[in-house]
Amino acid sequence: MIASKAYAAYNKSTPLAPFEFFRRNVKEHDVHVEILFCGVCHSDLHQARDEWGGSIYPMVPGHEIVGKVVEVGNKVTKFKAGDTVGVGVMVDSCRECKNCKRDLENYCVEGMTGTYNTIERDGKTIAQGGYSNHIVVDEHYVLKVSDKLNLEAVAPLLCAGITTYSPLRYANVGKGTKVGVIGLGGLGHMAVKFAVAFGAEVTVISTTPSKEQDAKKLGAHKFLVSSNKDRMRDYEGYFNVLLDAVSANHDFTPYLNLLDLDGRLLVVGLPQEEPKVSPFSLITNRRSVTGSMIGGIKETQDMLDFCAEHNIVAEVELIPIQQINEAYERMLKGDVKYRFVIDIASLNQ
Ligand code: NAP
Ligand code: ZN
Ligand code: ZN
Repeated sequence: MIASKAYAAYNKSTPLAPFEFFRRNVKEHDVHVEILFCGVCHSDLHQARDEWGGSIYPMVPGHEIVGKVVEVGNKVTKFKAGDTVGVGVMVDSCRECKNCKRDLENYCVEGMTGTYNTIERDGKTIAQGGYSNHIVVDEHYVLKVSDKLNLEAVAPLLCAGITTYSPLRYANVGKGTKVGVIGLGGLGHMAVKFAVAFGAEVTVISTTPSKEQDAKKLGAHKFLVSSNKDRMRDYEGYFNVLLDAVSANHDFTPYLNLLDLDGRLLVVGLPQEEPKVSPFSLITNRRSVTGSMIGGIKETQDMLDFCAEHNIVAEVELIPIQQINEAYERMLKGDVKYRFVIDIASLNQ
């Protein structure tokens, strides 16, 4: 067994604290990764605080993992010791269902195995995430990461990156598409970078007026403050695609009204409460609401390769793991530009 150090949530209300546990020994298809960096996703906070229900404790959050391979099983073909790799939001799936066979393991009919806060497919091990120094994962769910990019800024691509890349691709966002990104946070800022890279006209729709300059620096062409009703009215029927990356409870109707004919609201944000959706806003302009959950392994690799080619990484603030609780509070206040990333070396302090 591989002794591992981590920070864990022990229950839904106390701060995360040091935790020691064991990873499984490397099996024939496994890759043992020494973790260098792990991004801090709002989903970590939702789950650590049991905002979605059913949380399993102790919980080591973290699913934006970048590290170095230290050991591989004897049947591993894709990786060798020394390789730079990533692990994202899932570490397993059934591999046999219609969706797994179409490279959509994220929509596995049996349910994908999350990187943490779930029981692994052996039926007993609690999966533990990346706020730790080691992880052991089947090679199919491990991604190749280019050494060309700044690795701490690559980590958020493993969740925030693929979660925004996949629905924007699926919606055929490109030249001529008018895209609105709702919520300029960890996911939102990646959505802006991708939509701009795909050639779209991009507007950030934010609750925070002070983010305008940043939005433009990220490449956005326009900026809308959602509380400004007059400006929102000016944009009724304007957008082809809206990507909702909001973590807090909010209704869809004011945003739906901004969509043009056949416009789509792509939902990736996962607040605790159900939103209000007006049927009148839906039937007007034949609008639709669709959801999207991360992306399959093949598409995640495509996204990482696209980022290496186009020099796309996240904007990050590197923190030692001892600051994780403060980082959660700051994330709730929107006080992060635009993703916290944990320097896992700090576990040894
Ligand atoms: P984040 O960094 O905290 O960003 C969330 C953003 O939401 C904030 O920056 C803020 O942007 C906006 N916001 C906050 N309160 C708001 C309100 N009351 N009304 C409207 N907007 C508000 O969070 P994240 O890590 O990007 O995650 C965003 C959501 O996506 C979370 O719920 C997370 O669980 C979910 N998620 C889903 C998937 C998936 O597969 N679908 C994957 C990862 C994460 P402004 O200041 O610009 O308004
Ligand atoms: Zn995430
Ligand atoms: Zn499956």
